[in-house]
Amino acid sequence: MLRRAHANVAIGAAALLVLALAAQAGEAAKAPPLAVVDPGPAGGPPADAIVLLGPGFDDAALAARWTNRKDPERKAPPPWKVKDGVVTVAAGTGDLVTRESFADVQLHIEWMLPPREKAATDGEDAGNSGIKFHETYEIQILDSYGKTGNALGQAGAVYKQHAPLVNVTRAPGEWQSFDIVFRPPRFEAGKLAADGRFTVFHNGVLIQDNARILGRTNDSRPMPQEYALPFFLQDHGGKVSFRNIWVRRLAPRAE
Ligand code: MG
Repeated sequence: MLRRAHANVAIGAAALLVLALAAQAGEAAKAPPLAVVDPGPAGGPPADAIVLLGPGFDDAALAARWTNRKDPERKAPPPWKVKDGVVTVAAGTGDLVTRESFADVQLHIEWMLPPREKAATDGEDAGNSGIKFHETYEIQILDSYGKTGNALGQAGAVYKQHAPLVNVTRAPGEWQSFDIVFRPPRFEAGKLAADGRFTVFHNGVLIQDNARILGRTNDSRPMPQEYALPFFLQDHGGKVSFRNIWVRRLAPRAE
């Protein structure tokens, strides 16, 4: 009798498993077909990326993608010049801002710090630039090579909000990369409905893990409510260089 009860339990469990697998197969059948994307050469850009700076770019190609943030009409040519696919901050000329607006994005960007002119401190005077998403939320670029203090201000910080998980900054004069996933804050009917998020890899190392955006990174004014806005590379005086900038538009993440 007991043996039969065990057998019934086993048959019942098997039937449930079959039903579960059938349900899973049903769900799988509902998933839309995958988009096939050519990933391109190592380091990208993948075929579905918008290249904002790449090999072969001249000043005209740069001007098609970027303008000078100092110009209120956003028509002026870019404030920095291209040489061999590289642009370098021309101190005091203005920020390099995208002509297009972006919402959810994956951004790849390579940057290089200028030579150190004096002994390193934990301050923010050397090699300071940054990528400011929505012209509001800064991922810091700084000469942070070997530094341990001022964690909220060093390279890879969500400025003044989240320190990078580790400092993997390379020395001045060496190319390095950020790969950033930016999820803008979402506003509905004038109210914050979903927090913005940053995930960042610096030189391939995870340094921001779905970090929650707490507000503007440089002041306490209200956050902009537009879901898509331009981003800019900051002229903070440091002669930081950039190359290989590409961006992929992402679908908003399901909450
Ligand atoms: Mg900065």
